[in-house]
Amino acid sequence: FDDRDRLDTRHVRLSDPERLRHLRDVQRAEPGDELSVGLLGGRWGRGRLLSLDAAGAVFEIHLDRDPPAPLPVHLLLALPRPRMLARTLEHVTALGVKRLTLLHTRRVEKSYWQSPELRPEKIRHHLLLGLEQARDTQLPHLDFEPRFKPFIEDRLPGQLAGRRALIAHPGMAETCPRGLAEPVTLAVGPEGGFIPYEVERLQALGFTGVHLGERILRVETAVTALLARLF
Ligand code: SAM
Repeated sequence: FDDRDRLDTRHVRLSDPERLRHLRDVQRAEPGDELSVGLLGGRWGRGRLLSLDAAGAVFEIHLDRDPPAPLPVHLLLALPRPRMLARTLEHVTALGVKRLTLLHTRRVEKSYWQSPELRPEKIRHHLLLGLEQARDTQLPHLDFEPRFKPFIEDRLPGQLAGRRALIAHPGMAETCPRGLAEPVTLAVGPEGGFIPYEVERLQALGFTGVHLGERILRVETAVTALLARLF
């Protein structure tokens, strides 16, 4: 929940329809149940569901935990196909990515950018599901970059200072490093992969190409495997 949902210091009412549907149909929550709840950008803890109806879900809350530390990662993710986007977004926040840029690359279908899955409330819903899963409360900074060239020429260079930059691409010479302690910008391609021109442009900005072995992974699996390995 966020501060607008507060009724008083101990009670909140959630009224977002997606959230109510999820509570009712997926979590099968009923009055009296104890659930994990968190204040966006703040602490998390337990919430007792007092009522659940079309007007909202009212919780009595007790917030006594700090969220886990985020991963110092800026993920540059080629926009996945709409059907894959929800799960990928959930993984991104469950794993604690601090900054996410959804990026156009040549092998991203232009129609993906018009998908209803990109509506702000949908995106937010899936990011929040990942946060909840991980008992986190910190949404990543999110940007949309529907044009590759202006992004990498005008904005990306200024975002790379003091960071290691990696591009995940099958067949690269180096294997993906393990156990990094420094901030990383990580580029992950679309279903069809990056084209050679994109790999070259990112390498020219200082990105190192890394691979994850012979297995070619789906985007959501690759993101999870890369982050688990890097940190
Ligand atoms: N046929 C595409 C290619 O060869 O690039 C496969 C793309 S893969 C389904 C989607 C993205 O996940 C890739 O662009 C890459 O960023 C990442 N990925 C998947 N498997 C990988 C691997 N074994 N090594 C490095 N990156 C990988």
